[in-house]
Amino acid sequence: MRIALIAHDRMKDRMVALAREFAPELRAHTLMGTGTTGGRLVDEAGLAVERLLSGPLGGDLQIGARLAVGEVDAVVFLRDPMTPQPHEPDIHALVRACDVHDVPCATNVSGARLLLRALLR
Ligand code: PGA
Repeated sequence: MRIALIAHDRMKDRMVALAREFAPELRAHTLMGTGTTGGRLVDEAGLAVERLLSGPLGGDLQIGARLAVGEVDAVVFLRDPMTPQPHEPDIHALVRACDVHDVPCATNVSGARLLLRALLR
């Protein structure tokens, strides 16, 4: 599976915790992430993650473009519901691309746990 991992700044600690929880399973798959999220997953969860651009610089769009051509199988996107983001249109574009192409997308930790359990365990 090719899994994209993205977390807004205030959600990054939760993404790292989630990735640690699922690290043994995630290691068997191809992982990609936005720049800062990916860096933290490499450093703090010991995962091999292809780092794309940071979200506000186009990373969400890169993932969306891959997804649109069938190169992403699942997305964990821990969005911060309480903080306006400068790249809101990109965030919507990525979630919309998941819906258009029927790619599973979890946008909170509980949903991500269910998704990763179903996919990986
Ligand atoms: P980041 O991007 O991982 O580079 O912080 C995530 C985002 O803000 O969409």
